[in-house]
Amino acid sequence: MLIMDHLIGQENNLSLLTDLLKNSHFPTSFLIYGPRGSGKKTLAKLVSAAVNCEFGRLGEDCSCHSCHKVETGNHPDVRWLGFDEEAYSIKIEEIHTLINWAGYKVLEGKKKVFIINRAERMTEEAANALLKTLEEPPADTLIFLLVENPANLRETLASRCFKIKIDPLSAEAVKKRLVDHFKWNEKEASLAAKFSRGSLGQALELKGDNVSETMRSFLEEVLPYPTIGVERWIGKKRHEVLKGLQLLSLLLRDLVVYRETAEPALLYQEDFGREFKDWSARLKTKMVLDILRLINETEAAIQDNVNPKIALFRLGTAIEKIYGKTAIYE
Ligand SMILES: [Zn+2]
Repeated sequence: MLIMDHLIGQENNLSLLTDLLKNSHFPTSFLIYGPRGSGKKTLAKLVSAAVNCEFGRLGEDCSCHSCHKVETGNHPDVRWLGFDEEAYSIKIEEIHTLINWAGYKVLEGKKKVFIINRAERMTEEAANALLKTLEEPPADTLIFLLVENPANLRETLASRCFKIKIDPLSAEAVKKRLVDHFKWNEKEASLAAKFSRGSLGQALELKGDNVSETMRSFLEEVLPYPTIGVERWIGKKRHEVLKGLQLLSLLLRDLVVYRETAEPALLYQEDFGREFKDWSARLKTKMVLDILRLINETEAAIQDNVNPKIALFRLGTAIEKIYGKTAIYE
């Protein structure tokens, strides 16, 4: 089963769930939280497969009909909401449809499962409607709420769920998985692992990207003209924006490290040219740290569902403010 490929370092969560599944008082509502790309969807899928598996398997490869259907998103008893990462909100009508569906009998499997991805996007009304369902769960139904930051989900909802936290992996573990399992070369895997912040999904986002090229374009277009530079991400998908900001952070971190140490071996990226050295000399450490903080705040805002366009516009303007009266170009 393919979904296992994306699940690493979650042995504890898996054994916890295995134990729970054996218990007759198995909880019915779960809150799975952890960074983007850390495996929340995979874990929810795995449990959906396990509770419906023809052989009752959890955390093992299984090719039974039921597991295959869950894997390919075709199981009639497993439904997703909020799968579209770009949708701004999850509305009450969508929750009502799910609740109605939950009232029906199980069609093929043993349990109905509904999974709400990025559940923090639920509107007030949607959250209230769901709350009632969590308080009086329909028979044979499991509910999974997936969020990146649990603080963004209303406490009334969170407190009714069994919480499962997905911890970041070590860079070494991510790299090993990329090399052993996804057959990446050492160099690419090493960079992606550092970029990933401990999330395999984020590391995999770099697949096929020319990182050196992207970094160079940041040096030529984003750093000199921040307000225009950040426009490159406007209209892009959320994960593309976050990925871009993360790469920009890596570059800035390298600029500071190089400025302070002049030691290429300490850099994430190895093949920087003249532009890199120029910028490293030009931007004072304090400025770079301030910009890094702004980028962090922008990422957090976008994760908290602030409109990316507004967040990016603020970022560009704030960076220019940091440059301030100091002429970047003399
Ligand atoms: Zn199975």
